[in-house]
Amino acid sequence: MARITLKNVYKRYDNTEKKLFGKKKAENAFAVKDLSFTCKDHSFIGILGPSGCGKSTTLRMVAGLEKITAGQIFIDQVCINDLLPKDRNIGLAFEDYALYPPLTIYDNLAFNLKAKNMPPAEIKKAIGRVAPLLKVDELLHMKPSALSGGQKQRVNIARAIVRQPALLLLDEPLSHLDGKMRQTLRQEIKRMHREIECTTIIVTHDQIEAMSLSDVIIIMKDGELQQMGSPLEVYDKPVNEFVAGFIGEPPMNLIPSVIAKAESGFFFTFKGSPLRVQLPQRYSALASDAMAVTLGVRPMDVRITDTDTSTPAPVAVYENFGDERRVGVRVGDGLLNITTTEDVFYAPGDTIRLDFNAEKTHLFNPETGIALS
Ligand code: ADP
Ligand code: MG
Repeated sequence: MARITLKNVYKRYDNTEKKLFGKKKAENAFAVKDLSFTCKDHSFIGILGPSGCGKSTTLRMVAGLEKITAGQIFIDQVCINDLLPKDRNIGLAFEDYALYPPLTIYDNLAFNLKAKNMPPAEIKKAIGRVAPLLKVDELLHMKPSALSGGQKQRVNIARAIVRQPALLLLDEPLSHLDGKMRQTLRQEIKRMHREIECTTIIVTHDQIEAMSLSDVIIIMKDGELQQMGSPLEVYDKPVNEFVAGFIGEPPMNLIPSVIAKAESGFFFTFKGSPLRVQLPQRYSALASDAMAVTLGVRPMDVRITDTDTSTPAPVAVYENFGDERRVGVRVGDGLLNITTTEDVFYAPGDTIRLDFNAEKTHLFNPETGIALS
């Protein structure tokens, strides 16, 4: 059990200097830049971001597998910068389950415990405790080659927790698995965490995984922290366009807009489109006539309606996913995606009327991408 803290952590790989030049070098030299966060004891933290944003580097620095360029990492009050990986009391499970092929699953799980001279009876007890948690108790006599991908990943995670680490680190543990298996194992990881209550960090590029598993999500881009918060916070109150577009499937619409002042208040307008959308009251204090903004709205927060007062817009794309329909509507140069669970059909060129849930719209500075509030 542990609280984990990163203070102004930077990482530059020694070989990056040689690959980059000039301005690019100065901007891109760091794989992780000024990363600071604290995670409470027992919490489940998701580090989320696109490929190459520095997630694995962060995890490897916490594990002690990668030297940090600057900053400090603490477990509870203790700075672990200079501790060897084996002295950090950390359990690790990576995407690649490096199980020893000649050994049985039991011996794979026992391997590190034997190395620590744990008596056989205690090893048996430790394995007996974790095997049912990850449903590997039926597999203990088998060799890795006889296991499916999902089963190997369970063993991999069981091996990480069998030593009762203070901190469990999981790097994309589900990304090799197919859809159904991912969902099953995701639920089991969650249940396992509830039982062992070990502070856990999972790294993933999959927002569904991060949203469903974590108490706290850390969203990274280009080595930098963008936002840290509960899944609901990052979903409902994204601090910038990047987070807004990254969390949520299908993604939030982000449409260039100009605010217009009319007698009845402010409106969003869109270049080359007659569509006008009322600006929510909470934004009126910061709005002004002719102000350029980016309007953010999630596809399910725009309704298709038949009230005549709303503005008609032409359908460009229609997709039927069975459980929901997605309709793409032309708004000026851009495409506004709408999802509906109603059983509707539109052909491209049809005209529909739209009703925006004004309270669910977001406003961003189009130059910086930062949320206005
Ligand atoms: P993620 O896990 O988010 O996909 P990584 O932490 O693996 O990202 O990588 C972050 C950045 O650091 C990338 O630009 C990657 O190319 C670079 N990088 C990762 N590992 C090394 C390494 N061993 N040597 C040099 N550059 C690396
Ligand atoms: Mg990675």
